[in-house]
Amino acid sequence: MATQTSRKYRLRDDYRRFDQKNEMFCRSIWDTEFAETLSVPNYAKAMISRALEQVKAGHEGFALREMALCWASWTIASMENAGSGWRGGNRGLFSWEPLGASTAAHSGDPLWRVAGVDAEDVDDVVAVTGSIKKIGRAFGATEVGVAGLDRRWVYSNWWSRYTQEGGEIRFSDEMEDPEAYMEPTELADGTRVIPADMKNVIVLGFERGYEAIDTSPDSVAGCETGMGYSKMAFTTPTLAEYIRNLGYNAIPMGNDTALSVPMAIEAGLGQLGRNGLLVNPKHGSRLALSKILTDMPLVHDSPVEVGLTEFCDVCKKCAKHCPSQAISYEERSHEGQTFSNNPGSLKWYLHPEKCMRFWTDLGEDCSNCLRSCAFNKPPGILHDVVRGIIANTSAFNRLFVWLDDAMGYGKKKSSSSFFGY
Ligand code: SF4
Ligand code: SF4
Repeated sequence: MATQTSRKYRLRDDYRRFDQKNEMFCRSIWDTEFAETLSVPNYAKAMISRALEQVKAGHEGFALREMALCWASWTIASMENAGSGWRGGNRGLFSWEPLGASTAAHSGDPLWRVAGVDAEDVDDVVAVTGSIKKIGRAFGATEVGVAGLDRRWVYSNWWSRYTQEGGEIRFSDEMEDPEAYMEPTELADGTRVIPADMKNVIVLGFERGYEAIDTSPDSVAGCETGMGYSKMAFTTPTLAEYIRNLGYNAIPMGNDTALSVPMAIEAGLGQLGRNGLLVNPKHGSRLALSKILTDMPLVHDSPVEVGLTEFCDVCKKCAKHCPSQAISYEERSHEGQTFSNNPGSLKWYLHPEKCMRFWTDLGEDCSNCLRSCAFNKPPGILHDVVRGIIANTSAFNRLFVWLDDAMGYGKKKSSSSFFGY
């Protein structure tokens, strides 16, 4: 299916679904050449050990109170049951099966089945879609959008960094006996099968705080990364469970199973920035993303056009503020820089190894490309007017970038300003 987003990416015929095993976090586990070249034998272990050195040294932004904040923010996301991308999906809270936590003494069955009633009828799809968005926000999401599924964004294979197991991701209509896969299934050989009727994607965005992100690259900004993952570990399975209780299939996903950014673009949550991230008209690149695949009938949103591509052509602030120089200054291209990129779509490709190298040296993740983004600022009359102009004409883009710099936006703030002492 040629979706509006795939047309924007101008997908080449040789574009292939991405194998999760090739993303840089997974490679830090299995790719010995990558580990040797970059001296990143195990990204997570290396980062933790560097973080502890930083705390002992008491460096600004990494002293005990800052790192304590950051590590606390990961509390929910780090729990055995909660992680998503790094566990490869379909485990714990991100299980593809109903959790049934509140029904019939934890039977694992969804409410409609326990109660012995029919699945909820969806007569008014517009009203039901509005209600799902409202409930998504009530459960903790900042933004909620809905898209039709473009299978090209679904990973070809899943892989777990924790257990180092993996397998193909297929659709029921590619299987010999499609009727055998009316519910999401994982086979003994690790193959996962998505029912072909699961054609709708609910994309959830979780705002990362403006003030904390302004301190990047230090642990106060890192707290917002942890909060993004912890919030999505609560909200995504909870909304999925609501949908299952009504009688529909739902697959909750964090970074696992499918690419979040193109799905968010298709769901109308923003455009793709030079920094490789979703840029939302209200929150810039400060939205952490998760998604739910479902067969519940829903109305699709349309992609938005806010003049971002033309603005990124001249802005380049994220590239200038990137400490590892992982962000491209060049024109968009169809060619990736490393095999952790997936070539064939027209965009700015990051150099993920450079980015990871910096994080590992720092002992913390970095959010400079969020902090410096000209769209990062919270809504306000002046900012809204400027965004309105950018959406309608590119004539003033250079002036706006100059003003953004002249007013000091995008510069790092001290973590003391966050704590107030
Ligand atoms: S996270 Fe930091 S190092 Fe990585 S691309 Fe963004 S600015 Fe560069
Ligand atoms: S900082 Fe500028 S170039 Fe980078 S994503 Fe934001 S608007 Fe685009």
